[in-house]
Amino acid sequence: MMYMTKMMIEIRNLLQKVGQSSTVSLPSIVVIGSQSSGKSSVLEAIVGHEFLPKGNNMITRRPIELTLVNDPKVSADYGEFPDLGLHRITDFSLIQKNLTELNQSVPEHQCVSDDPIRLTIHSPRVPDLSLIDLPGYIQVAGENQPRELKRKISELCDKYIRGPNIILAISAADVDLANSTALQASRRVDPRGERTIGVITKMDLVDPEKGAAILSDKQYPLRLGYVGVISRAPQQTGLFKRDTGALLRQISKNEKSYFSTHPEFGPDSGVSIGTVTLRKKLMHVLEQQMSSKLQDTTAAIQRELEETSYQFKVQYNEEPMTAEAYLAASLDDFKHAFKRFASSFGRPQMQQLLKEALDQRVLDQLAAKYWNKPIEDLSPAPFEPESLADLPKADPNSQFWHMQLDTATSALTRLGVGRLAATVVANAIQANVDKLVNKSTFAKHPSARQVINEAAATVLADRSYTTSDGIEFSLKPYKYEVDIQPQEWSQGRDHVAGVLKMELDQCQRAMNNLENSVGGKRKLKEVMNFVDKARKGEIVVEGETRNGAGGFSAALLQKGREAVFLRDRADIINMRIMAVKSRQCKSLENKYYCPEVFLDAVATKLTQTSVLFLNVEMLNDFYARFPREVESKLGEQMLGGGLERFASEDPRIRRHLDLIRRKELLELVLSKIEGLRRFNRSDDDIDQHN
Ligand code: GDP
Repeated sequence: MMYMTKMMIEIRNLLQKVGQSSTVSLPSIVVIGSQSSGKSSVLEAIVGHEFLPKGNNMITRRPIELTLVNDPKVSADYGEFPDLGLHRITDFSLIQKNLTELNQSVPEHQCVSDDPIRLTIHSPRVPDLSLIDLPGYIQVAGENQPRELKRKISELCDKYIRGPNIILAISAADVDLANSTALQASRRVDPRGERTIGVITKMDLVDPEKGAAILSDKQYPLRLGYVGVISRAPQQTGLFKRDTGALLRQISKNEKSYFSTHPEFGPDSGVSIGTVTLRKKLMHVLEQQMSSKLQDTTAAIQRELEETSYQFKVQYNEEPMTAEAYLAASLDDFKHAFKRFASSFGRPQMQQLLKEALDQRVLDQLAAKYWNKPIEDLSPAPFEPESLADLPKADPNSQFWHMQLDTATSALTRLGVGRLAATVVANAIQANVDKLVNKSTFAKHPSARQVINEAAATVLADRSYTTSDGIEFSLKPYKYEVDIQPQEWSQGRDHVAGVLKMELDQCQRAMNNLENSVGGKRKLKEVMNFVDKARKGEIVVEGETRNGAGGFSAALLQKGREAVFLRDRADIINMRIMAVKSRQCKSLENKYYCPEVFLDAVATKLTQTSVLFLNVEMLNDFYARFPREVESKLGEQMLGGGLERFASEDPRIRRHLDLIRRKELLELVLSKIEGLRRFNRSDDDIDQHN
C-alpha cells in the first residue's frame, strides 16, 4: 500500500517537472480553510512538527507543495527545498524561517503568487502524502491589506481545488458550517461531495452533542465524510524542544482524553475522530484517487510522449543533444578558429602594427623639432617666412642641426618603446580574440564571452611587464648610438614618403571638416585671411576679446587659426615630401638634411628588435596558454548548474534540450508506471496463493 502511494507521489512530482505545457497530472491533497480555522495546526499535527509561518500579520502568500516521504531509515526527520538546493535541514525552526522568508518575498501589491514553494519532509513517522497548503480565506481585508487580497486568495485556491485533486476542507466546530468558506468553495467545484474530506477542528470548543452532530452532518453530506480533531499544539514547557514525533503523540493523547470522556464519540457513534484517523484516511483516499486516475494518466502520458517524439523527429531529426556536447562543440569550434588566427598573426603582423605606432611618434618628433608651431593667438609671429624657400636650410656642418637630430633620435629610443610595443600587440590580440568570440557560438552567451575575454586579458597581462622590460633592455644600445646602414636608409626613404603622404591626406581631411563646420570654403578663407594678416602685422588687433575680433566670433577665429595651422603644416609636408624624394636625400651622408628618413630607419630598427622579443615572450606564450586558460575558466563557470544555464542561453539549444528532457521524463514516468503495474500484479499473485 505504502509503496504504491510513494511511487505515485514520485510519478506525480516527475510529471510536474515535465512542465507547464503538460496536461497530465496525478492528484494531490489541497488544504483550504479560513484564516484561524486551525488549518496550520492540522497540517503540523499530520507532519508531527511545527514548521509553518506564524505571527499576527502572517498571511500565506504562496502555495506550499508539501511532499511527505515515509523513510524508515531516517534517524532524524529532515526537510528539503529542492528548488533552492537546500538539503537535509533537521532543524524545523529553520524550515519555518525559510518558509517565512519565501512567503515574504511576494511583494505586497501582488498580494499572492501562484508560484509554489516546494518542500519535502522525510521521516519514518510520516505517511507518504502529497499535500498543498493554500493561503487561508480571509473574511474582511485588514486595515493595511489591499482590497483585492480577498479576491486574489480565492482565485488562487480555485486554481488548485480543481479535479482530480482531493480537497481537505477545514472548518472550525465553533463556526456554523453554513458559513464555512472552505465548504462553500469545495461545493462550487465538487457539488456532489465526491472528492472532499471535511475536517472539523476545535472540537473541544463546542458541546460534545453539537460536535457529534456536525460530524454526522446530513445537511452537507460528503462521500468521504468528516473527521473531528483537536489539533491545537499543547504548550511547550521547559527549555528543551519536543523530540521527534512528540507533537503527534501529545495531540492524540489530548484528543483521546477528550473524546473518550464523551459517549457521543464512542465506538458505536459512527463518527470519525482524531488526527491519527485523519492521517489514515488521507493516505487511503489519496491512494484510491491516484490509482483510479492512473489509467487515464497513463494514456495521456503515452499520447504526450508520442507527440513529443514526433516533434523530436521533425524538428531535430532525432539528433541527440546535451549541454555538455553543446559546450564541447562550441569550445572545439572556437579553438579551431583561434588556431587559424594564430597561424595568420605572427612577426610580420606585429612588425606592421608596431611600426605604424612608431611612425606616429616619428611624425610627432618631426613636428616638434622641425616643423611649424601651433598658432596660439593673433599677435604677429616672431618669424614668418614669406615663402617656403625662406625656411632655414639644414646646413650639415651646423651644430644646431646635429643636435636637433640627436635629440629627436634619443627621444624616439627613450619614449618607452617596450611598453608601447607590449600594449600595441596586447591590444591587437585582445581585439582579435573579441572578434573570434563574436563570430563563434559564444557570441550568444554573455557570461562565457566575458570569461574568454578575461582569460585573454589575464594571460596577456601576465607577460606584459617582462616583455616590456625585456624589450627595453635589448634596446639599450640604441639609446646611445644608432648605426644606420645604406640599405636601411634607402628602405626608410621609400617608406617615410608614404607616411608623409598619409599625413598630408589627413591634413586635407581635417581641412575639409573645418570648411564644413564653418559653412563653406569661402567663409573659412575669409577668416584665414584675417588671421594671416594679423600674424603678419598688416592689421593690428587690439587684443582678442571673448566676442572675437574683426567681426569674427571667438569660435570662428579659433577655427581660422586651426585652418592656418593645417595649411602651413600641409605646405611643409609637401615640401618635405619633395625633399625626401630629392637627390640629396638619396645618400645617408645628408642625414641632417633628411631627418624624416633617418628617424624612420631608427623606428624600423626599434621595431625589429622589439618584435623578436614580443614573439618569444608574449605571442608564443599566449598561443600556448590562452586555450588552456579558456578551458579551465569556462569549466569553473559551468559548475553548480552553470552548464545548463549556459546551454539554455541559446534559445535554439534550449528548445532542443527541453524537448529531449521532456521526452526522457515522460519515458521515465511510463517506466515507473510499468514498474508499479508489475508490483501490483505480483501483489495479486501473492493474494491468490494465500
Ligand atoms: P490557521 O490560521 O487556519 O492556520 O489556524 P491556526 O492553526 O493558526 O489556529 C488558529 C488558532 O486556533 C490558534 O490559536 C490555535 O492554537 C487554535 N486552535 C487550532 N486548533 C485548535 C483546536 O482544535 N482547539 C482549540 N481550542 N484551539 C485550536
